[in-house]
Amino acid sequence: MPSGGARAADDMNAVAERYAHLVLALGQHDPDYVDAFYGPPEWKTQAEKEKKSLDAIGAEAAELSATLNQDRPSPQSSRKGRGGREALASKTSDAEKSGEEMLRLRREYLQKQISALAARVRMLKGEKLKFDDESRALYDAVAPTYGDSHYDQIIAQLEAKIPGKGPLWQRYEEWRKPFVIPKEKLDKVFQLAIKECRARTEAHVALPPNESFTVEYVTNKPWGGYNWYKGNFHSVIQVNTDLPIYIDRAVDLAAHEGYPGHHVYNTLLEKNLVRDRGWPEFSVYALFSPQSLIAEGTANFGREVAFPTKAERMKFEKEVLFPAAGIDASRADEYYVVQDLMKQLDYAANEAARRLVNGEIDESAAAQWLQKYAVMEPARAQQRVKFIKRYRSYVINYNLGEDMVRCYIEKRSGTDPEKRWSEFGKLLSSPRLPSGLTN
Ligand SMILES: [Zn+2]
Repeated sequence: MPSGGARAADDMNAVAERYAHLVLALGQHDPDYVDAFYGPPEWKTQAEKEKKSLDAIGAEAAELSATLNQDRPSPQSSRKGRGGREALASKTSDAEKSGEEMLRLRREYLQKQISALAARVRMLKGEKLKFDDESRALYDAVAPTYGDSHYDQIIAQLEAKIPGKGPLWQRYEEWRKPFVIPKEKLDKVFQLAIKECRARTEAHVALPPNESFTVEYVTNKPWGGYNWYKGNFHSVIQVNTDLPIYIDRAVDLAAHEGYPGHHVYNTLLEKNLVRDRGWPEFSVYALFSPQSLIAEGTANFGREVAFPTKAERMKFEKEVLFPAAGIDASRADEYYVVQDLMKQLDYAANEAARRLVNGEIDESAAAQWLQKYAVMEPARAQQRVKFIKRYRSYVINYNLGEDMVRCYIEKRSGTDPEKRWSEFGKLLSSPRLPSGLTN
């Protein structure tokens, strides 16, 4: 153990445990807040019994944050006690360095998670934040704003791919009908995608032997898919079948919700941070917190980690998924050229959310905006508006999160797929925050 670490770790564990209790307390006021909890069940019972007021939770968060600031170690005190032969010293120094970095990241993580919790308390008490202020307070990041012309030039390219009369969303809906996965084949296609993504992940990341998840098909939800982490390396993944599901969703869903996305992230946090290190703050997952940008960003980027080149993914899609879904594989390239353009419109959905949350447009104008700039059919635009109403600036965690994670990983690994896996695995097992991705 690095010198001077024991007491610091004990102090930090005490703060971390109080933080976990506070998250559970806030969950009593906000049913979406506690996304996962697998710590001692009596902590939850205690939160239910105590039912602390928002004021009390806010006051405790402020106190906890002050305690954490007070305990900040001085830069000199944490670097004592090196010695021995040169080789040994340099080894110790590496271990010390990484140990110190983990402690520094942990402290920063707790500080930002607590401050996001305090912001959520203020929101629940009625404080209205502007979209960017809210995303900074809750997710430690602000999404860039693009003007209409940015989207116009992407849309012009889509227009050229799908020519004809009527609004583009309508033509797009018509055009992509042949790529719907028939309902009765959905599970088979998803299971094939999951199997492939799992095999690819397992070849590079050490997963606990008993990790597993189940897939359920549900309806009437504002989201398309959800990973509910249950602890003990188990997840329940739900897929919303309200709207038609297209072939690109198979790999997306398998990688995002499963391997190497949410399921692997939660599993590695439980294994490395909760069990091996005994850090209680990771046994609870506060949805409206910086951790969500890391979670969604790594989950979205997971597809590129599992399939380091588009050629590799296309091969699997054409040889396995398209045939299993009964979809003409000879049109796969054409389909994905359009999907790649559609992906560039992701920030348009952020823009709709920003304007709606800021009160610049109403729900029907937001749906119109999504139809035009995100090329969504009315039902999908409605579903997205529902999502924005419920989760607000959370929307940035997906695309901005993905871009930030990509930038962070590529800076460290270039295009070397092995290095990419190792950096990705490290990120999934550390308490790094969104603002720490830009270092
Ligand atoms: Zn997700």
